Amino acid sequence: MSENCGNFTLEAAQAYLAREPDMTVDQISDRLFTVSDGQCRTIFVAADESVIAFDTFGTPGRARAYGRAIAETLPGKAINTVIYSHDHLDHAGFAADLAPGAEIIADEMCAKVIKCRGAEGQSVPTRVLRGERNELTIDGVELVLLNPGPTHGSGNMAAYFADEKVLFSSDTVLANAKYGFMPDYHFANFVKFMRGFLELDWERFVPGRYELTDRAGFERGCDFIEAVQETCQQAFANFVPIWMYEPMKGFVGGQLGERFGDLDGFDGHIGQMSIRIVHHYLMGGWGLEDTPEPAVLLEDQVSL
Ligand SMILES: [Zn+2]
Repeated sequence: MSENCGNFTLEAAQAYLAREPDMTVDQISDRLFTVSDGQCRTIFVAADESVIAFDTFGTPGRARAYGRAIAETLPGKAINTVIYSHDHLDHAGFAADLAPGAEIIADEMCAKVIKCRGAEGQSVPTRVLRGERNELTIDGVELVLLNPGPTHGSGNMAAYFADEKVLFSSDTVLANAKYGFMPDYHFANFVKFMRGFLELDWERFVPGRYELTDRAGFERGCDFIEAVQETCQQAFANFVPIWMYEPMKGFVGGQLGERFGDLDGFDGHIGQMSIRIVHHYLMGGWGLEDTPEPAVLLEDQVSL
């Protein structure tokens, strides 16, 4: 294949990998910008002499479009640093196409998964962070990177900008219901760690998809996920056939429609969400990643 192909093996994927969508950039402060391809979203920061880009978007074409959007916004500044919010290819898969020579910063767990995965185009992190809170200064920009524990994917890292009163946390709480949760959400810990971010002083939340929200929207997003978790448990008590899509959609959607039916995407996604979450209770999660210390999973097996 001519494009870096991530995990794809079919030549037919080329068209998907190469497409370069329009990007929309919005300025949050003097130094901080958010950018979206209409679905995924991330942030980048103007440093003194360079640009710090969070994530890469999910194909080589999208990474190039992201790079172009940055160059148009901050002409003359190279992307010298890329920070991965988590390991997933649809957000952090194509640094090789965005900024081949950049320093790549990631959480240790994220770095280990990426090393083992070996996906084409997903650059291996060159600087690995450990622990819940890391404060770094990169080219004049002070960064606070937070990993309170497993929320989504492997080695999830949020960014807190105290001066801007902004929190960025990719693929976590959305301002809508437009995500059919996959096994990569860690429901044993998710809401607890996300609510923990409310202890910080911020007013705007930048999610990894769709539109920005405020503290009230963020709290409602947590309430929604918690309500789906509770209703999925009630499905057992009501002997709903939990492995079937339509009965689960009907039960959970019916229970929560009055309270959360106004969330964009509710009708189209509540069934998928329910199927995913109900199996957390049936099966106990997806292994060690659904415990508070997922790093033990790769502790002795993978060295960086
Ligand atoms: Zn993800």
